[in-house]
Amino acid sequence: MFSTAFLDLPALQGASGTVTLPGSKSISNRVLLLSALCQGTTVVHDLLDSDDTRVMLAALRQLGCGVEVAGTTVTITGLGGRAWPSEAIEFFMGNAGTAMRPLTAALAVQGGDFTLKGVPRMHERPIGDLVDALRELGCAIDYLGNAGYPPLRIGQPQLQVDKPIPVRGDVSSQFLTALLMALPLAATDRAITIEVIGELISKPYIEITLNLLARYGIAVERHGWERFVIPAGSRYQSPGSIHVEADASSASYFIALGAIAQGDGIRIQGVGADSIQGDIRFMDAAAQMGAKITSGPNWLEINREAWPLKGITLDCNHIPDAAMTLGVMALYADGPTTLRNIASWRVKETDRIAAMATESRKLGATVEEGPDWITIHPLPAGQWQRASIHTYDDHRVAMCFSLAAFNADQVPVRIEDPKCVAKTFPDYFEALFSVAHTAAENIPVICIDGPTASGKGTLASRVAAQLGYHYLDSGALYRVTAHATLQVGLSLEAADEAQIAQLARHLPVRFEGEQVLLNNVDVTDAIRSEQGGMNASKVSVLPAVREALVDLQHSFQRLPGLLADGRDMGTVIFPNAPLKVFLTASAAQRAERRHKQLISKGFSANIDSLRADLEARDARDMSRSVAPFQPAQDALQLDNSSLSIEASVDQVLSWWQGRQVFGA
Ligand code: C5P
Repeated sequence: MFSTAFLDLPALQGASGTVTLPGSKSISNRVLLLSALCQGTTVVHDLLDSDDTRVMLAALRQLGCGVEVAGTTVTITGLGGRAWPSEAIEFFMGNAGTAMRPLTAALAVQGGDFTLKGVPRMHERPIGDLVDALRELGCAIDYLGNAGYPPLRIGQPQLQVDKPIPVRGDVSSQFLTALLMALPLAATDRAITIEVIGELISKPYIEITLNLLARYGIAVERHGWERFVIPAGSRYQSPGSIHVEADASSASYFIALGAIAQGDGIRIQGVGADSIQGDIRFMDAAAQMGAKITSGPNWLEINREAWPLKGITLDCNHIPDAAMTLGVMALYADGPTTLRNIASWRVKETDRIAAMATESRKLGATVEEGPDWITIHPLPAGQWQRASIHTYDDHRVAMCFSLAAFNADQVPVRIEDPKCVAKTFPDYFEALFSVAHTAAENIPVICIDGPTASGKGTLASRVAAQLGYHYLDSGALYRVTAHATLQVGLSLEAADEAQIAQLARHLPVRFEGEQVLLNNVDVTDAIRSEQGGMNASKVSVLPAVREALVDLQHSFQRLPGLLADGRDMGTVIFPNAPLKVFLTASAAQRAERRHKQLISKGFSANIDSLRADLEARDARDMSRSVAPFQPAQDALQLDNSSLSIEASVDQVLSWWQGRQVFGA
């Protein structure tokens, strides 16, 4: 997951390959709550690991449910038939609507002394219609802040279920879902009827609810979309084990990707056209816009067909969440696209109509909006702007706008707060990068070259962490090569050059965080010694060895970008890098730093001999015939002798920002 302040997506040119999608958010949280209300144990497979499900799991634990997590398999031991907690409990629901609504209903029907709170945005998301319905039923619920919104306080109910319970259906279908899941708790000896007031929106989500309730032994009678009856004698029964389908809304980004990007097509694993999720119907809308889609039981395959895509006008009531993705496809169409009947967008994680309009305009698009509709005009080549996309703590805004990176003008796109995708798809960007491709010159490389012990490794890895970029410690490759050379009994001298080069060309090296593995053996400490550095310097003068390591070094230049440190990153390996830094510090300073470092690791060391060693190493690195160590002509010099690490990091980041100007 990218936890950086922003993520710069380089201009992307195509995409091909397979993605396996995480479990559906809607199904995951329903299944968790239903399992918790059962008697006995339910094994839930392929559960989504996300903010929303974590909120739900935490709440279930607080209630006394058994929760065992093993990867994406979670075993829930339900509360059915057990004592319901009598002590006061405060639940923190974050911004998780799919946890807040059904949990409120279940807690209110069962009764207790409960408080439910969330982040400030949660306290702006209406819940009054659900509370009204629950009060009608005899539940005791108070508003602790503004009437109609969380936080809430729940007490002991006096249930009256003889008359139908009215609930509004035209604001959020989650209210009806919440009631449908909670009321079986009260329907042990009498039937309960729910009556929907107003036109029910998001019917497909109600279908998911009914489908899952049936799996848990509750056969709700549906009369049109106005009346739902929970039969007398209803009792939750665990299905024993259950699989969560991949999220159809998450699939929408990859369906759109297949429609937009050139390549051999995108295959989506985990969900097919026969999904129980309504958002799967997004595929019809995408096909209407020009995607070519085929499907099997648990997979979809998408290819680009019509290009440009075709602008459409669509009532999106049946695909409220996935429809946002059409908004970004609209930028690549041949005419305007109008999405209608999307009033619910205004009360989601953010006001999504406003967000889509504002952010599309930043890219250069013309957008019109109304209370429950939006029209987005295509963006022709020549008019795309570099934009910094604000994401409003809304995963869907972030994922949608990532698709703008395929723009005709090949401008990069900045996504602010990329970790907001964690709500439903923590590894979304990793999945995107695993199938997207672009020309090497579009993938930025920042080079930091400098002499021994100048602090370039620390600086480069910190800048990489801030930008979410990959990191190449090229010195480690020379160190590992020297290590491998000695291991097989060769010398480090020119006499063995050809064999050392052969070793280097197929170096079985792997980096895992700070660890360096050679043939799966951890050699980090061995290669990091002073001797290891000296040995590296010896093999690094051999031209065939340098040549043999070039491809390996280039292979680190992957999406979304790279920080590379060494001696010749800017001069030889990545001569076209858009930012090159030449890091220096006085020999005295460097010797002192290295001394401190060694002492802190428990090694004995002598400053004078350290200084003599590193000066000798610098001299050899600077005087060798191939790729002698020297600053690139276009490198910016940074003398960090008297700078803190933070100050050096800030300096490099500000140089980088200066070259990567994004609109506000
Ligand atoms: O940076 P580090 O101290 O790990 O590098 C060890 C040695 O590897 C250097 O002294 C240098 O001789 C060699 N090296 C190189 N080119 C690079 C990185 C390191 O020649 N890009």
